[in-house]
Amino acid sequence: MTKQTKKAKCPFCGSDKLTKKKRGWTLTTGIYGMNNMRYKCHDCGKKFMEHKADFS
Ligand SMILES: [Zn+2]
Repeated sequence: MTKQTKKAKCPFCGSDKLTKKKRGWTLTTGIYGMNNMRYKCHDCGKKFMEHKADFS
């Protein structure tokens, strides 16, 4: 075990220039999953949830 945390990468373009944000409460999901983390890619501008991020 050398690395414990892998860097998340954009699943669309492979960039690692991501902003990590807590999703928070939304109208569509209510409080369900409000602690999920959301990423925004600076290179392609897409947003995606943490489980969609590419950690390879
Ligand atoms: Zn991207």
